Amino acid sequence: MQLLEDRIRKDGVIKEGNVLKVDSFLNHQMDIHLFEEIGREFKRRFMNEEINKILTIEASGIGIACIVAQSFDVPVVFAKKTKTKNIAGDVYTSQVESYTHGRVYDIIVSKEFLNENDKVLLIDDFLANGKALEGLADLVREAGATLVGAGIVIEKGFQVGGNILRSKGIHLESLAIVDSMDEKTGEITFRKQD
Ligand code: 5GP
Repeated sequence: MQLLEDRIRKDGVIKEGNVLKVDSFLNHQMDIHLFEEIGREFKRRFMNEEINKILTIEASGIGIACIVAQSFDVPVVFAKKTKTKNIAGDVYTSQVESYTHGRVYDIIVSKEFLNENDKVLLIDDFLANGKALEGLADLVREAGATLVGAGIVIEKGFQVGGNILRSKGIHLESLAIVDSMDEKTGEITFRKQD
C-alpha cells in the first residue's frame, strides 16, 4: 500500500533491536484518515471472505481494528492482557511473548464474545515473530470459531512471523512488508506486492 509505505519512510523512526517506531501516525497519535484507507484496503483484500467479527489485542491494535471494523460493518473484540489467571472458566485464554517488552503475559477473551458461529479476522499493527497472532489464533480455536485470516498493517519481513503463519495456511495480508531497515542511515526497503 503505497500511501502507507510513503508515510513509514517519512515519519517512521528506526530504533535499536529492530523496532520501528511509528508513534506519530499509528501507535500514539493516530491518523484517522490513514486508518480509513487501511480499513478500505483490508476490505478489498478480504472481499471474498465472510467475516462477522474482528479480533485484536490490546493496546495498540484497538484503534486500527475499530476503524477497520467500520469497513466490514462488524463488531470488534479485543483480547485483554492480564496478570491474574482467570480460573472461573468463563474466558478463553492463551499466552503471548511480547516482542517489544520481552515478557510473557496471558491474554483472555470472555466466552460471551466469541463462539463457534464466528468467522474471525485478526487485525494487528505489527507482525514480528508472530506470537501475538498465534495467541489470538489460539483463542479462536478454543472458541471453535473459524479463523478467516489476519490483516497486519506493518509486517517486518526479515523476522519469522510471516513465514510461520503463511506456512500454517493462514490467509495473511500485510499492507506494508519491511524487508530491511538500517538504524544508521534510516533507510527502509519494502517488499513488492501485487
Ligand atoms: P510478534 O508477536 O509478531 O513478535 O510482535 C507483534 C507485536 O509486537 C505487535 O502487537 C506490536 O505491538 C509489537 N511490535 C513488534 N515489532 C514492533 C515494532 O517494530 N514496532 C512497534 N511499534 N511494535 C512492534
